Amino acid sequence: MSRVTKSRVKIQIKSINFNLRTMKKYVCDVCGYVYDPAVGDPDSGIAPGTPFEEIPDSWSCPLCGIGKDSFSVME
Ligand SMILES: [Zn+2]
Repeated sequence: MSRVTKSRVKIQIKSINFNLRTMKKYVCDVCGYVYDPAVGDPDSGIAPGTPFEEIPDSWSCPLCGIGKDSFSVME
């Protein structure tokens, strides 16, 4: 049993590292504000390290107030 638990933990750590590497910046289509997952949006209660996908839908652009729908992936 303990063997199974250990390997599960390893898999979880791997996927966290994967997320940190692949987190993308998003740019507001309206005002050009860039959401950087490494920085988050502390003023709106979004902790640093939060991927854009995990921001609550109620979040809006801190500069112009537009919703998440109007953000595009920054390549
Ligand atoms: Zn904006």
